[in-house]
Amino acid sequence: MKKTATPNSLDAYWMPFTANRAFKAGPRMVVGAEGMYYLTADGRRVLDATSGLYCVNAGHANPHIVGAIQKAAATLDYAPAFQFGHPGVFELSNRLKLLAPGDLDHVFYASSGSEAIDTALKVALSYHRRRGEGHRTRFIGRERGYHGVGFGGISVGGMSPNRKVYGNMLSGVDHLPTTYVRDKQAFSSGEPDWGAHLADELERIIGLHDPSNIAGVIVEPVAGSTGCLPPPKGYLERLRAITQKHGILLIFDEVITAFGRLGHAFASDRYGIVPDMIAFAKGLTNGAVPMSGVLVRAAMYETHMEGPEHLPELYHGFTYSGHPLATAAALAALDVYAGEGLFERARTHEALLAETMLSLQSAPGVLDIRPIGMMCGIDLAPKNATVGVRGYEIMDRAFHENDLYIRVGADTLIVAPPLIAGPEEIEQIRDKLAALISRTA
Ligand code: PLP
Repeated sequence: MKKTATPNSLDAYWMPFTANRAFKAGPRMVVGAEGMYYLTADGRRVLDATSGLYCVNAGHANPHIVGAIQKAAATLDYAPAFQFGHPGVFELSNRLKLLAPGDLDHVFYASSGSEAIDTALKVALSYHRRRGEGHRTRFIGRERGYHGVGFGGISVGGMSPNRKVYGNMLSGVDHLPTTYVRDKQAFSSGEPDWGAHLADELERIIGLHDPSNIAGVIVEPVAGSTGCLPPPKGYLERLRAITQKHGILLIFDEVITAFGRLGHAFASDRYGIVPDMIAFAKGLTNGAVPMSGVLVRAAMYETHMEGPEHLPELYHGFTYSGHPLATAAALAALDVYAGEGLFERARTHEALLAETMLSLQSAPGVLDIRPIGMMCGIDLAPKNATVGVRGYEIMDRAFHENDLYIRVGADTLIVAPPLIAGPEEIEQIRDKLAALISRTA
């Protein structure tokens, strides 16, 4: 069959995590971006309520980041990631080491959050094996967790639609219960008071398998994609104490929470916890070039620095690990975060975001509002008892009728504006959402 080219057809692109047919029947296209806004071809400025996908923490098209990427592209377009290096990636690693908690002072790079997660799981297995504990192969994730879409990530993840058609996945994975129980926690601001004891479920799972068989526990400090679920007060501390007691690695998936979303470089700082590994991505480059990584503790790196010196210590890596353009974007983004005091700014605005979003409590069909740091989940009652119809309608109408971009998951709205947002933008987001929530009730 002869193929015909139709330049304007939307058909050929299979869009990720998208209702393709609905999109193609009524596209939501953006053609530019600056600061707090996306720009459309018909000249509209669409307020970005979710930092793209929780990644554009410093706002769109920051000139320092744009300039750094342009310069890097013209200087060193690509450097081989294996057996060769370039100065920027060492500089970035040293900067991240200084930002990271405790002795997490070595960094392995990838391009996406999903790759970072699979990297962390593999490093955990390799570490235990190198220490003569190759029997530690099991992982424990959590219900409603999101760790990307690789086979490792969906196995430890706990969002059923992302798992159900993909067969057996990784074997040997258990899941902690979700930390979210609406009856006990609804309309909490920040970390809910109830629920620390849910961490004790870990002891039960460990007891079933024996600690000697468990490699690691992986959680998002604040579960993001499932709808922004802050950890109950004391919960993460208990996970750390239990894992430490049993020689089990604690992996924090900070793909959303790192680089300011919770008012600190890492959520680990907010909670005063030193995990064994931190996976990060998104905000690292302000979303401008794909880049992710895993920070690991000194001992985990040192354990690998044995054996023949001419051979790789870890048989793992990606063509684009430490890519020069991504590295340049990351260094520039870190400059901007520090120079503009954006992590502190997030801390300053946390109470305002919480109070402003919680004022939607009496809007029709609002079931819960969960603000923490510069993010907030808003659960809505489904329309006509059909999950997701109302959420979709709000996302679509927001874009076409209210000049607002917002990410939704089923009937949960996720507000996570760039950290440059001020009171005016936060209130605009609330007002637009109030109108949309009423209109779709
Ligand atoms: N982990 C968390 C907590 C995430 O929120 C995401 C993406 O939203 C990922 C992992 C996967 O990242 P990516 O989409 O870059 O693969």
